Amino acid sequence: TQYTQDQLHEMPSKLKCSLAVEPSLPRISHGGIRDALRAKLAQPDAEDAFFVADLGEVYRQFVQWSQLLPHVQPFYAVKCNPDPLVIKLLSRLGAGFDCASRGEIQQALQEDIASENIIYAHPCKPASHLRYAKESGVAMMTFDNSDELIKISQIHPDAKAVLRILTDDSSSLCRLGLKFGASPETTESLLATAKQLGVNVIGVSFHVGSGCQSETAFTDAIMRARSVFDQAEKLGFHFNLLDIGGGFPGRGDQSGLSFATVASALTSAMNTYFPQDCYDHVRVIAEPGRYFVTSAFSLAVNVVARRQVVRDRQPEYYQGSEGVLNNTAPTNDENPAFMYYVNDGVYGSFNCIMFDYHHPKPRVLTCNGRLVDEQRSSPSLAYESSIWGPTCDSIDCIMSSGMLPELQVGDWLVFDGMGAYTICAASRFNGFKLSDIVYVDTAGVLL
Ligand code: PLP
Repeated sequence: TQYTQDQLHEMPSKLKCSLAVEPSLPRISHGGIRDALRAKLAQPDAEDAFFVADLGEVYRQFVQWSQLLPHVQPFYAVKCNPDPLVIKLLSRLGAGFDCASRGEIQQALQEDIASENIIYAHPCKPASHLRYAKESGVAMMTFDNSDELIKISQIHPDAKAVLRILTDDSSSLCRLGLKFGASPETTESLLATAKQLGVNVIGVSFHVGSGCQSETAFTDAIMRARSVFDQAEKLGFHFNLLDIGGGFPGRGDQSGLSFATVASALTSAMNTYFPQDCYDHVRVIAEPGRYFVTSAFSLAVNVVARRQVVRDRQPEYYQGSEGVLNNTAPTNDENPAFMYYVNDGVYGSFNCIMFDYHHPKPRVLTCNGRLVDEQRSSPSLAYESSIWGPTCDSIDCIMSSGMLPELQVGDWLVFDGMGAYTICAASRFNGFKLSDIVYVDTAGVLL
């Protein structure tokens, strides 16, 4: 879906109408994240960790995408955060969906997403999931090896296959090329095999790796895709799909690479390598995950216990989240350090530390039971601190070293930028529940 500026402007009222008829929606509050945090903390016996999800932020990211990459239809990567409201909102906005399993396809279909707006983007599919895709009319799917082609030809002969190629993922946090992607030496013979088997290959996909830190990875990949388009043409295929994958930075990502930089590099690469046919004959799609959700979710955790440790370290002054230092130079003064135990951890939403190489930074929400106003609070003494998750395992460490003011049991910390690859892989290890989600809409699109 391509939107004009006027259509983007009218979008909020259209969305309100289309979602108003759905009474089963969870409560979505007016106001910002801060209000939602306050409201939740004001509840008697507030203790459980919780996310605040700002659907307005997802909307703003969608608008930015439509403005900077208007010819590329985003297919949201469900795996990144399968939150039902995020999926509902993105589907109403006209996004497609990248699904990697039967379960994800089912979730997308429940939202009435048209099957041509779903890509089964997994190059190695279990036969039963492939059968399900066929039964539900999902035809677009990726492959990168000849065994998969045989499977597709036998189970889903009407599939629209997309050849996932290997690209340079060396500047990405989560490299995917170790596991997926046809190398340049194999693409031609794979296409020839597809021809022999009668598999309809319609285009090329790639993924530069998740958490990509360089825009040139994208432009280089477009160049590689072009050469596979040319190979295909010689073999008698008429490609009409280019899938530029995921890897786009979320807002405020630690990499520092901005979406605008990636979008402008991609636009000029597409103009160079797909000059005429790009927009007229080739549908260009992408599979962004973290781009949409990273900045939309903040996680509030409660200090359920603490331990004071005697250490040789001077207290310093705490200056908000920027002031969390990693300065461990010892002094001869006997000053305490603190170990804080909070109620979500590495086995829960902070699994992103293990799987997504994330370094979460805390903000102090309450100190001594009082809300900390970042604008007005005067600097307080800060002590060497570590933050631990709730389980019995010592690997369950959220922050091994940093400077925080002295907190008490019952105080709250917030971690921003927790929307991507967090909730989706959280476990209930040790009997701890998953963190709840409270929804807000700071863009006023849904309320
Ligand atoms: N597409 C595929 C095939 C993936 O494997 C992934 C993530 O691993 C994504 C899209 C989403 O990537 P990102 O969240 O970096 O945009």
